[in-house]
This record gives sequence, C-alpha cells and structure tokens, in this order.
Amino acid sequence: MNPLFKEAIPILEHLEYHGYEAYFVGGAVRDELLNRSISDIDIATSAPPEEVVKLFEKTVPVGIEHGTVLVRHKQKSFEVTTYRIESGYEDYRHPDKVDFVKDLHLDLSRRDFTINAMAMNKNGDIIDPFHGQSDLKSNTIKTVNEAAGRFQEDPLRMMRALRFVSQLGFSLEERTKEAIMEYGYLLEKIAVERLAIEMEKLWLGKHIQQAHQHLVHTDIYRFLPCFNKDHDLVHKSQLHVKTPFSSLSEAITCMHLFNESFTIDYWCKEWKLSNAVKKDSLQLLQAFQAYMQYKELRPDILYQLQPQLLQPFAHLTTILIGEHVISEADLQMQYDHLPIKSRNDLAINGNDILKLKPEERPGPWIQELIKSLESKVLFGTVKNNKEELQEWVRAWNRQEKG
Ligand code: ATP
Ligand code: MG
Repeated sequence: MNPLFKEAIPILEHLEYHGYEAYFVGGAVRDELLNRSISDIDIATSAPPEEVVKLFEKTVPVGIEHGTVLVRHKQKSFEVTTYRIESGYEDYRHPDKVDFVKDLHLDLSRRDFTINAMAMNKNGDIIDPFHGQSDLKSNTIKTVNEAAGRFQEDPLRMMRALRFVSQLGFSLEERTKEAIMEYGYLLEKIAVERLAIEMEKLWLGKHIQQAHQHLVHTDIYRFLPCFNKDHDLVHKSQLHVKTPFSSLSEAITCMHLFNESFTIDYWCKEWKLSNAVKKDSLQLLQAFQAYMQYKELRPDILYQLQPQLLQPFAHLTTILIGEHVISEADLQMQYDHLPIKSRNDLAINGNDILKLKPEERPGPWIQELIKSLESKVLFGTVKNNKEELQEWVRAWNRQEKG
C-alpha cells in the first residue's frame, strides 16, 4: 500500500472506533491499483459531516454543505466526505440536492466511471460493485450505469472521460463513446471554470494524441470555447502535438500561435484563466517570437524565460518548429551559464547608481540604465562586478553630459 494511505489509516480507524464506516475512495484507489503515483487521498464515511468535525481535533469545513470536511493529521490534509447521493443539476454546476446516505454502494453509484467507483478498506481489500477492476484490466473508461443518463445529469463527465483517456491511455467503452457523440452539445451549459480544470489535465496527459483523436472523432470540441470558433485548432493540435504540454500556459501560447487572431488575452478570457497563466503565456510568446526573429537563443531571451518556463519553451519549439531544434538539457545548460539570472544578481543597484550621480533626481532613467546594464552583462560586454559597472555608469554619465 502506498505510504500516503498508511498515513491516513488512523483516520479510518478513528471513525470506525466511533461506530462509523470509512473507506478510501475515488482516484487514489484507481491509481493505487494502476501503480500510478498518488497525489491526494479521499475518504468516504457513513459519519455525518458534523460528527466528523466533532471527532477530529483539527478540521476545516471546506464543503460541509456537500458533506466534505478536511481533516488535518500529522501535518497533512485528507478530505473526508460523508456518503451521499446527488440529484438534479439544474444549473449544470452544482447538484440541486445532496442527500447523505448510510450505504457505501449508493455513494459509489453516484460516481462517474467504474474505475473511479471503487473503495478500499484499511487492509487494502477492494469493494468494487461496478467491476472497475475488470475495466482497469481492459483499459476501459465506462460510466457507472447508463451513459446517456449520467452525461445528461452532469455533462462535465464527458470532458472528464477524455481527460482520463489522456492521462491513462484507456479506450472509451462503446456506449460511453456513443453517448458522448450524442450529448456533447450539453457541454455548452457547463461553467467554463469546470471545463478548464479538465482541459488542463487533458493537455498535460501522457496520451494527449489519443485524447485529441477523441475530441475530433466525438465532435465535442465544437462545444468548447475558442475551439468552437475555429475548427482547425483541434486538427492542428491533433497533427502537431505529439507529447504532453508541460504547462497550461504553454498550451495557451501554442493555441495562440496556431491561430494568431485569437490573442492570449482572448484565450484567457474565454476560458477564465488566472492572471498568472496569462503572464506566463505572454512571456513564453515573447521569448518564442524573439527566438524566431534572431534565429538563435540569445542570452536576453533565456534571461527573460526564468527557470519554470525553460521546459515549456523547449517543448513549444518542438511542436512549432520541429524535434531536436532545442533540447531541454541544452536550454538548461545555457541558462545555468548566464552571468545573472535576475536583476537582484546585478552587482549594482539603484541606490549605487544614484550615489554615482548625486546631481540627478531619482526617476525612470534609473530603470532604463539598469536595463541596459543587464543587457551589457548578459552579452558579456561588461563583467558583473561592481567596479566595472560603476565605471560604466560613470562613462554613461560623461557621455550624457557630453
Ligand atoms: P485526479 O487524480 O485527477 O484527482 P480523480 O479521479 O481523483 O482524478 P477528482 O476530480 O479529484 O478526480 O474526483 C474525485 C472522485 O470524485 C472521482 O474519482 C469520482 O469518483 C468522483 N467524481 C468527481 N467528479 C465527478 C462527477 N462530475 N461526476 C461523478 N463523480 C465525480
Ligand atoms: Mg482527485
């Protein structure tokens, strides 16, 4: 058993001690059986949420109206959710009604796919009323109960099916696939924030090519923001994206480069993405454009990328220019050799500059001067040492006074 489960066993035992049932459920059980790494563990219990809050010392009522309480145990958090069933999704966002139930099987029956509808007890025994283990063996994504009804109830599940294809490389069971083709249009009703979570996982999945094939084949891309306005986008994705994107911002930059009339701003607005994603996407775009202009990886391009964008940048060039144009290892090595990695590394700062020019008042000229110093240092015209930089500032002084 994965150590993360072992760490959570005392939570199950504590609930059982007080007369309740408690099991590991959902994605973690699936990933354990697949020998995949596990990020977060979900626990389902027959205890009502108020009881869970009472029974543990440290809890956070993250979604208590839906039965979810975060239990803190030895500096880790575990989501404990009361067995529940849901009914009606009038707003296509939240179930109209959540009912807490006493029966684990009922809780498992509300889950989306058979591979996600298994429970595991503290001894590692699997409870599997919908034959998820057999679908895991045959690499199949199949809804719990009849697909058409389950997708009409919550259309997001169709997007989830494709993101599981992307993450696991599984096939869609025939009826599940047919229902996606029939009810895909319902995705238009889903809150875009929910879609974006699944789209990001799809873009980052190992089997992205397979997921793209399904996006095309089932036609559901027609009901996704941006893809619905340029049908070529999904075909270009299918043709050129052979390995997973390394970040959401890389995917957005790439989509923009597939059709430049959809700006990064537009993508982020349509998909309601964060400013952080927008910022990284724009930075990647700038670097990519500079690279295309100079046809070489100038130090100022690398400097602007920052370490977290090196891998996305290398991958982006693979998609848009071709394989082996720039390897990530090369990029990293060149980055490591930069004389400075950020403005803080510069051996001179704004105060030093002001001291050298006592007659000047502080103003935007300081930023400009620092910028040109950064560039000189990056290109090796000046060494990053205080004396040389001071000398250069003095020279700049003299020149200006001319
Ligand atoms: P990941 O490893 O990406 O977190 P996951 O399977 O844990 O995958 P979550 O979105 O975290 O996915 O959901 C946890 C569990 O809740 C799922 O395994 C599934 O049983 C259930 N679930 C989540 N979303 C839905 C949904 N829209 N409809 C039905 N069941 C759902
Ligand atoms: Mg999860």
